[in-house]
Amino acid sequence: MHDDDIKHPQAAAEFLQDRPHARWHDSAVWWVRKKRDAQAEKLPEWEQLRALADQIKAHTLSRLDEYLAEFANKAKSNGVTVHFAQDAQEHNTIVHGILAAAHVKKLVKSKSMLTEECGLNPYLEARGIEVIDTDLGERIVQLRHERPSHIVMPAIHLKKEQIGELFEKEMGTEHGNSDPTYLTHAARANLREHFLTADAGMTGVNFAIAETGGVVVCTNEGNADLGVSLPPIHISSMGIEKIIPKMEHLGIFTRLLARSAIGSPITTYTSHFHQARQGGEMHIVIVDNGRSAILGSSEFRKSLQCIRCGACMNTCPVYRRSSGMSYSYIIPGPIGSTLGPSRDIKKHASMAFACTTCGSCSNVCPVKINLHEQLVGQRAKAFDANAVPRLKKWAIQTAGFMMKHPALFDFAGKVQRTIIPIVPEALLKNSAWHKYGRATPDMPKDSFKDIMRKRVQGDKK
Ligand code: SF4
Repeated sequence: MHDDDIKHPQAAAEFLQDRPHARWHDSAVWWVRKKRDAQAEKLPEWEQLRALADQIKAHTLSRLDEYLAEFANKAKSNGVTVHFAQDAQEHNTIVHGILAAAHVKKLVKSKSMLTEECGLNPYLEARGIEVIDTDLGERIVQLRHERPSHIVMPAIHLKKEQIGELFEKEMGTEHGNSDPTYLTHAARANLREHFLTADAGMTGVNFAIAETGGVVVCTNEGNADLGVSLPPIHISSMGIEKIIPKMEHLGIFTRLLARSAIGSPITTYTSHFHQARQGGEMHIVIVDNGRSAILGSSEFRKSLQCIRCGACMNTCPVYRRSSGMSYSYIIPGPIGSTLGPSRDIKKHASMAFACTTCGSCSNVCPVKINLHEQLVGQRAKAFDANAVPRLKKWAIQTAGFMMKHPALFDFAGKVQRTIIPIVPEALLKNSAWHKYGRATPDMPKDSFKDIMRKRVQGDKK
């Protein structure tokens, strides 16, 4: 469902064609960021919580093999069937095997970016199993045959009028009615049918606790609970990095997660699953799919600490103005821009450059991932792997050369400050600058260096 050939600059330019929509997207996502700030400010211990979360995650990753073994053994002793999948293909084969053995025809699914990563829906559908995503946002993008544009708000790129039109076509809602409450009720009624007729339920995992062998799923809609409680089979898919050591650590993460994600003190449902319901089956599929390789990289290992709150997207000036659909990897924004290139630098190189290196993502990240530094590292990797367009590579090399030769750099600046003001505006109209409707900036009289030198000299007098 996602297109690895997307190049961020082109896709972003396309998104920006519809200026009013792009402005609306920016302000809608920024509104969530502000809600997060308000919640974080209410907790005097916020920074302490972040530091603890960082330490716990870093410690867990340093002994992940031990904690995974502890988790798997405990889950097995609870009566859960535990599977390990090396990659996406193996994950899909395992899930299909479980469903096929029980003659499942319909699966309801909730809260799983991992199944998006593995391409599970098309895999199962090709084998005759109907898959229904039950989170409202996920359902909307599923009906549009799109991928999620955000990890917490999958349909944030759509306006309510677009959803009204979609529901009218798919569910026969009233023509022209795009009232959110009305549409939510319509979607609920439609989903209820699927919950009642599904043969199996599947969820992602927010946290897997090594000490207890249980998994925790945080939702606001309650559909994950319904989806796994009604049918007899429950499958949970989790990446190997979802482990936390002990139950006592969970509170630190749940306090950070909902506040960072949507600016609310807690998610409506924080559900713990330790074993199958009476007479049912519970399976946990633990997936690697490239994570061990990231774990082995000292530069990018910290990206595995992510708790998928989406705060880095909500604050990112590039994400807000280009939307999640502009990124080639299934996870967009700053965290996706390091995870994607970690997996395949050639396919996802353009994502590493979708960043102003402002550092806002690293500042809001509840587990203190050094996102903007990782993106600079990914750029270097893209450069070395020849995954950067030739013109860009040339520009970077030229800039590098100039910076190593200060006299040349000063001279080039002087030429620019002298020539640009006398070039007729008409000659500049096809430049990269003008293409985006910007006016040529006024050239300063002095260089930044000259200005600073004069200021320092002035201070000394
Ligand atoms: S990188 Fe940090 S801010 Fe971004 S989604 Fe993950 S935990 Fe949240």
